Amino acid sequence: MCGILGIIGKGTVIEDVVTGLLTIQHRGQDAAGGISYKGQFNIKKGLGLVRDVFNKKNIARLQGSVAIGHVRYPTAGTYEATEAQPFYVNMPYGIALAHNGNIINYGELKRYLEDEEFRYINSKCDAELLLNVFAAQLLRLGKFSTDNLFTSIDKLFDTVQGSYSVISIIGKKGFLAFRDPHGFKPLIFGKKGNAFAFASESVALDVLGYDIIGDVQPGEAIFIDNERALHRKKIRNAIHTPCIFEWVYFARPDSVIDGISVYEARYKLGRRLAEDIINRNIKPDVVIPIPDTSRVAALALAEEIGISYREGLIKNRYIGRTFIMAKQSERKNAVRMKLNPIRTAISGKKVLLVDDSIVRGNTSKEIINLIRAAGAREIYFASYSPPLRYPCIYGIDMQTKVEFIAKENPIEKIRREIGCDELIYQSMDGLLSSLQLGEDKEFRFFCTSCFDGNYPTKVNENIFKEIEHDRVACKSSIH
Ligand code: SF4
Repeated sequence: MCGILGIIGKGTVIEDVVTGLLTIQHRGQDAAGGISYKGQFNIKKGLGLVRDVFNKKNIARLQGSVAIGHVRYPTAGTYEATEAQPFYVNMPYGIALAHNGNIINYGELKRYLEDEEFRYINSKCDAELLLNVFAAQLLRLGKFSTDNLFTSIDKLFDTVQGSYSVISIIGKKGFLAFRDPHGFKPLIFGKKGNAFAFASESVALDVLGYDIIGDVQPGEAIFIDNERALHRKKIRNAIHTPCIFEWVYFARPDSVIDGISVYEARYKLGRRLAEDIINRNIKPDVVIPIPDTSRVAALALAEEIGISYREGLIKNRYIGRTFIMAKQSERKNAVRMKLNPIRTAISGKKVLLVDDSIVRGNTSKEIINLIRAAGAREIYFASYSPPLRYPCIYGIDMQTKVEFIAKENPIEKIRREIGCDELIYQSMDGLLSSLQLGEDKEFRFFCTSCFDGNYPTKVNENIFKEIEHDRVACKSSIH
């Protein structure tokens, strides 16, 4: 999962791009980058947070009224600065591109580009691959036109499998955005005066003062030309299956994705989970969220069962999200560095801990140990999403089957393993029904593959093996 943000406006726009990237920093903390266009491309990218990569000097260099930026959370490639996005190619026109997603058929596309298009891929980052597939298609169509631009995306949809929300600068021509036919990853856009901004999450547009126009639709391409005229075309009509994990865990609660408020979704997930707590006759003295993501659901759950909500775990804000840290050992240490219990809220009490999900179980186990050491009488652990059992091939770092504690183990075994007195998971029905929000009255579909193993795109065992192999290589590249 990554974050993208692009602006085509007036004067120099890079400062707004960097400001916007700060609002979506939670989507990736490994690397950041930006590129602008003013007669030529100017690029800056590097490892670390947005504030580590950008400074006054390099921002001053990134002149131009069109720019795109990216925050990276690696799901493909290695942990090197050269793997950071955006990427650009000189031919045709000069094209720069950044994306959020994961290309499944990476190997096949790389071979095609090298053997048939004679294009050399210099990194392991799938954005470079996507960019070259797109550039090759556009070049083949000859003279530039909006129709040709859309035709090349149509062809790209035929060849590139996986998830991708894309923003791109076409040198001297304008700004392009498109979303894969299933719309796995979010992409929303807005307008301020004559300027347009596209971002992974609506929070970025709110903060930058843009009026929201709407989400880029799945399978849709939008081109803003240099006269700031907007051209949009729905190129494909597949079933929209956005990643349900955006609402569970990844997005900020103040964002609205595909018309569904993240805050409202989490609130409803908490209320729905409360029904299971009541049905199982579990009677805690206090409900404590595992900060930060689960606060909204824990509050709703506490309200519904009529039990006090307390902040019993305080988070050190200056330690990265454990989920994003790549090495297992780093994850373990980070839990203790990141969270400290408030004894008075815990001691002698029956504590119900609420978390968004359980992946490997290590974090849950560490937290339960902490709470027990703080004097809890009993500990109940509730996950407001169902058991995670299947690898994500669309761009969240849960790509190897061995990572899931729930893959082979029954719930009772997981309970014993993580050391709580009761373990409660959200049901699939609870998850899906909580997300039926927004103005759209139709039943909404989602990607739920990591919970139920039903992948919206074609997949075969080789794809799992290839991705698993790449992830092991990627993680071993960490120094
Ligand atoms: S498999 Fe899970 S995490 Fe991956 S895109 Fe689907 S819902 Fe999201």
